[in-house]
This record gives sequence, structure tokens and C-alpha cells, in this order.
Amino acid sequence: MKFIAGCVTLAHSHWQCSRWVVVLITNATVVTWGEANQVFTDHAIYIDVGKIVAIGTSANLIAQYPAAERIDAKGQLVMPGNICAHTHFYGAYARGMAIPGEPPANFPQILERLWWPLDKALDKDTVRASALVSLVDAVKHGTTTLIDHHASPNFIDGSLDVIAEAVEQAGLRAVLCYEVTDRDGEDKMRAGVAENVRFIRSKRSSRIGATFGLHASLTLNDAALRACADANPADKGFHIHVAEHEADEEDSLRSSGKRVVQRLNEFGIWRDKTIAAHCVHIDEAERQLLQQKGVWITHQPRSNMNNAVGAMAFDNMMAQNMRICIGNDGFSNNMWADWKEAYLLHKVVSRDPRKANGGDIVRAGVYNNARLAEQFFEQTILGEISVGAAADLIFVDYHPFTPLHVGNLPWHILFGFESSMVTTTIVDGHVLMQDRQLITLNEAEIAREALELAPKVWERYNANIQAL
Ligand SMILES: [Zn+2]
Repeated sequence: MKFIAGCVTLAHSHWQCSRWVVVLITNATVVTWGEANQVFTDHAIYIDVGKIVAIGTSANLIAQYPAAERIDAKGQLVMPGNICAHTHFYGAYARGMAIPGEPPANFPQILERLWWPLDKALDKDTVRASALVSLVDAVKHGTTTLIDHHASPNFIDGSLDVIAEAVEQAGLRAVLCYEVTDRDGEDKMRAGVAENVRFIRSKRSSRIGATFGLHASLTLNDAALRACADANPADKGFHIHVAEHEADEEDSLRSSGKRVVQRLNEFGIWRDKTIAAHCVHIDEAERQLLQQKGVWITHQPRSNMNNAVGAMAFDNMMAQNMRICIGNDGFSNNMWADWKEAYLLHKVVSRDPRKANGGDIVRAGVYNNARLAEQFFEQTILGEISVGAAADLIFVDYHPFTPLHVGNLPWHILFGFESSMVTTTIVDGHVLMQDRQLITLNEAEIAREALELAPKVWERYNANIQAL
């Protein structure tokens, strides 16, 4: 029996209402990515229990697996799902929200007047709602793995479980952590440490990874950093914002006499699984240290432009073989938007059209993102279509009117793809959206429930901002 409708319990006891554990995708234009990057027309992919088992021509695989349930890709591109290297589900309620008073004039003011009063306004229900609306967005836009960085200072203990449940319900892959900070006092700092440790040790679905979150150097005193370094198991990394704005460097120099990367190095934060988000204002010595330590650096161009913090040294870092990845920092889970903005941003800031070339954007957004995500999922190959790789796939309804081949594929994506072209999303072999119909999540209901909670969130936000 190949077709399993309704609730599937074969490999994942929590799985609800996704479809097809065993399936043959036919009539696909397959973009493999991976080392042997190729584009195959009229190809098929056979999937069994979450993994790609065979890739071949449609005719061959139909002959080989005649009884398999089929999904006809109708010539659409079938590609590995996109990966987001840094996001914040908790930011969802910022959409359309007014910041009282004069507009924030710089990034520190944005933190103080938008993000910090907002994260304090979240409770259990709104943490869940924020996650679910973000996950709907991810499924619709073909982002199949997300690395989240969570904060809700008035609901810390158990917050990562609430998000994990939402991820389970969606059927996506995610890596979760709690942003430890000392900005709300020692008790909440310790609660953040405990939440990371608890979640790292917890029994979780194979699609949910865990790391240890830290907000940023400027909101972590030495005692907090020491507590985090001591609490995090040696084989786990950290996930932290680094030098997003000059204020982080200035604070570090003021408090320690060292720049951010050197200061954090003293506490052993730079491990080979650590993610340093942004790194806009690090200097050459800091770059070298992060490179030596094999730290993953995420680039969020939409966020950097929105916050007017500047642009990281993308080309220098790529040339230095640093592990540059691409995230969205809570913008829409449409990763091609951040690819496109990275492609454009570095050209305009340097007045040089050779910067951030399409090949480097793909190296960061596809290859480096995949290697980063694989750190958190044992024996799982992500970001490529190959035998044995995870069946995390998207269908893209794109009809090229000029030749498309591996050599020019990045530019087809950068100039031709829109996230609305994603019609089908599959994770771990489960179909989460087919022909633009969401299967695991009910978008209208999730939006309605989130909207019902919104007035109270904004009320609490306004009360928090009045108290500043
Ligand atoms: Zn961030």
C-alpha cells in the first residue's frame, strides 16, 4: 500500500494529515544543486520514508516503480527546498504596528522602542501564533528549514516547546534556541540559560534541532556569558547577533577594551557550530578569528537595509572562504528575496556591479546554508537532490524563455523567480502544500486566531513603551 491518506503514523507519531510517505514525482525539470549540480528534464524522483531513493527519467522510474503513487510535476522545476539561516518567528506581531512618538533614528532606538517592548508583550498563545503564521509563510514560499532565534522574556520556560509543537504541526524542519540576555535582570537571564539547556536535552522529533541562543554582546555582561559558556554542552554551538550596528562594538570596547569578536572569544563562544548573525561592523582581525574558528556567519540584507545598519564585507568574506550563509531576520520566509537584495545591496554600496555575483549568492544561500543546517540534523543531507538526501523539495512553476542550465541558473533565479511560483512543498517526504493548497496548516484559521490576539499584544507593547 503506497498511498496513505489522512493521519500518517509510519515514521512520526505526531504527524497529522500530511500525505504520501512513498511517492514518485514524475515529469519534473530537476535542479539538483549539490556537488554534481545538474538540470535534468523529464525526470522523476522516487521518495521513500523521507529520503530520495532514486532519480531517473520519468519513463525509467515509472517502469521500476509501477505501483507508486505519483505526483505529476507537469514540467515544473523541482528543486531542494530553501533554507533560512537566521530568523525570528517572534517578530510576527510587528507587522503593521505603529511605534509611538518620533520614528527611531538608529538601530539601538529600534531595539529599545520596537523589539524589546514587543518581545515582552508575548505570552504562550502569542508565541504559538507568531510561530504558526511564520510557518504558513515558509511552506507557501518554499522554505523548508529555518533556524530561529526566539525571545519572549515574560514567557521563557517552555517557550521552545510551544514553537516546536507548531513546527511539528507544520511539518517543516527547524533549529530552535532562546536568546539569553541580561537586559531584564539576572533571574530572566538564568531562565533563558535554563530554557536552552532544557530544550537541547529534550527528546524531540528528528526534524527539530536545538542550539544555544544569545542575544548580542551589548546585552550580555561577563557573568551572563560565563553562565552560558558553562551551561552549553561542549558539542553544541551558539547562535548570536554580532556587530549588527556600531553600538555593539562601542559597547564592547567600553566594557572590556576588546572588540566584540575578541571579547566573545574569551568566553569560548566561537565553536564550529556557532552562528554569528550580521557581522556588519567587524574588522579584519575579527574576520580572521571567525574564519579560523570556522564560525557560520549569516547575512540578512533586507534587515540590514531596513535598519540602516550598513552592509557586511560580503565579497571579502567570501574570498576568505568564510562560511557565509543567508537568513531573513524575520522578514518574509521568501529566501529568494534576501538573495536578490544581497545581489543588489553590495553593488550599490560599493558602486561596483561585479560585487556579490550570482555564483557567490548561490554558494552562500544554497551550499553554505545546507552545510550549516546539516550540523543540527544527524545523518541528514540537505539542500540537494541526490540519492540518500532528505526529500525536502519544492516545485517552481517557472517557464524559462531563454536557455536555462547550471551555469546561468543563479541569474534565472535572481531575475526571474518569484516566491509565488512555488506550488508544492515537501519536507521529509511529506507533502505540506500541493498545487498551492496547504495540507498541514489552515492559513485562514491561523491568521484569524493570530488576529484575535493582536489587539492585546499591541496594548501590552504600548504599555511597555510608555514605561520606558
Ligand atoms: Zn536577528
